[in-house]
Formats: sequence, C-alpha cells, structure tokens
Amino acid sequence: MNFPAPSRLRLDGAALVANWKIMARLSGSAATGAAVKANAYGLGARDVVPRLWAAGCRDFFVAHWGEAEEIADLIPVQHIAVLNGVCRDDVRQAAVLGAVPVLNTPSQIALWRAAGGGRCHVMIDSGMNRLGVGAEQLHDGLFDGLDVDILMSHLASADEQSPQNAMQLERYRRISEGLTCKRRSLANSAGIALGPDYHFDLTRPGLALYGGVAHSTLGDSIRQVVLPQARVLQTRKVASGAMVGYNATYIAEHEMTTATMAIGYADGYYRAFSNRGFVCVKGIDCPIVGRVSMDLITVDVTSIPSLSEGDWCDIHFELPSASHISGVSQYELLTGLSHRAERYWI
Ligand SMILES: *Cc1c(COP(=O)(O)O)cnc(C)c1O
Repeated sequence: MNFPAPSRLRLDGAALVANWKIMARLSGSAATGAAVKANAYGLGARDVVPRLWAAGCRDFFVAHWGEAEEIADLIPVQHIAVLNGVCRDDVRQAAVLGAVPVLNTPSQIALWRAAGGGRCHVMIDSGMNRLGVGAEQLHDGLFDGLDVDILMSHLASADEQSPQNAMQLERYRRISEGLTCKRRSLANSAGIALGPDYHFDLTRPGLALYGGVAHSTLGDSIRQVVLPQARVLQTRKVASGAMVGYNATYIAEHEMTTATMAIGYADGYYRAFSNRGFVCVKGIDCPIVGRVSMDLITVDVTSIPSLSEGDWCDIHFELPSASHISGVSQYELLTGLSHRAERYWI
C-alpha cells in the first residue's frame, strides 16, 4: 500500500538551479560549489546534487562521511568534500570511499598522511574559532606528502556588516599566501554578496540555493524553492468568544470559520508559528489561529467560503519572512523539515 501523505513539500527544481546560477554569476570568475550537507539542508541531497551537477556545479560539500556515501553513486566521488575531516575511526573507510576530506587540525593532517595521504582540502581558522587549523599551528612541512587542493576558511559574520569580515579576509589572505594549494575558497552565500575580494577561486553557497536570503542585497533575486502544503481535514464554525487549540491561546473575537490542516511540528512546521504564521488559501493569506500542534494547525478561513475538506493549501514558507515571523533562523526552518512530509519535485 502506498498512502498519499496529507502533508507534503513541493520542491522547485528550476528555482534551485536558477539560484545556483545567480550565485555563480555573482561569483564572477570564481567557480561556484554547493553546500549539500544535512541532506541538502533537508531538501534531499539525492535530488539536489544531480540537478546542480547538470547545471555545472563541480564542488559539493557535506559534513559527514555518511552524507558523502549517500550521494557517491550520483557523481564522480572526488567532487565531494567532507567538511568534518577524518578521525581515527573513519580515516581508513574515508580513503576507500574516495571523497575528499577537509582536514581541520594538525592531527587530522597526520592521520590522513598515515593513511596514504594524497589529495585533500584544508580548513584554516581565520578568526571564527570554530573549526580549522589555527594560524599558530601552521609550520613548515605541515603539508608535506599531501596534495592540497582547496585551502579554505569560513566567515563568521558574512550576513552582517561587521568589521570581522575584513579582518578575516585579511588574515586568510595573509595565511594562504604562505601556503601551497591549488585553489583558495572563503565565501559562503552571504560572503559572495560581500564582493569580489571575497571570492578567490571557489565559492561555497548553501542557504541561497535553497531560497534563503543571507544578505539583504540578494533579496530580490533569490527564488523560493520549498513550499509546504497540507490538506484540509475539517472546516468548522467557531462562535465569538470560543477558544481554539491547545491552552486556548486564541479566543475568537467574532464568529468565524476555521480550517484544520494536516501539518504540525512533527513535519517541521514549528510551534513558533503559533498565532503568527499564515497559509495561502486560494490566493488569500489566512492567519494561523492558536497553537501549532504535532500534526495539525488551525487557520482562520472566514474569507474563503468555498474551501472544503480534502483541499490542499500552501503554507507560507518564504524563508526571510517566515524566519522573521517565527524567530527561527532560515537554516533551521529548512533543516527542521521532517521526512513525514512527502517531497515532490516540479
Ligand atoms: C555550511 C557551509 C557553507 C555554506 O554556508 P551558507 O551560509 O549556507 O551559504 C560554506 N562553507 C562551509 C565551511 C560550511 O560549513
């Protein structure tokens, strides 16, 4: 049996590719990769990667080796980079798989060398103090026996106008000039918007590909990729003064019609949208009333008398405004989408 799910995600392949092309154009002469970690930010890496490969993307970044393995049959495996690098428990399998580690510490470098060395990428810390070889750990001979392709670093505040950006750029430039590598890479989505100084040989957008707007200057060009949809399970008349949903956080100010729809926080539609989010019903924005519960939301559809049980509705999920409304970051809105909702690509 194959029951149709009452909640689903409509994924727009043309918008995904258009967003990658915008990032590629903004990257100028630098090549443009794609961050596809966390299952391509929740969209489904196996569906995202072939579309971007066909568009011309040749550098894919995942966080875990399992994520690399998940897509390894879709593209030549040497085009996949694993951001977490290697540890003693995975280095042998990593070498067999053939995806390329991003080495983040002197001991990761030593492990990789001991496992046979060869092509790798290296992450340098330029001031974020999260992951990467620190400037003070660099010394002559550190990369001996390795073939360093991408020497990268990561920006901490690219989505803000912060002096940290120029500071990291300067530090990265200074460090990378003293090291041997094939390509240099610094910018994520927001970093691309900081301008050509930040582009080097390769950029690594993630969020923008999936419809996120990481920087105000990208606002008008990025297209929405993910649209959650849910079926109406019931419509009802609610009397003035009646209480709606868990803990009665909404009390009807007048008689209204509500629709109960089959999506909730178990699908990744967070409780933070309670009394704040809205649903587009037959072209009209209708507010969510009361709490988002595990499987259900309740929506004021008084202005849509033609709505019936079984109808599909579009849940507002335009990332910058959905993030603003809910207080949840655009990244978390995407990666929180659960697999209960069925995914379909147009
Ligand atoms: C996730 C990630 C990216 C992509 O960042 P976005 O902000 O989603 O564009 C790029 N580089 C590294 C090292 C990352 O971890």
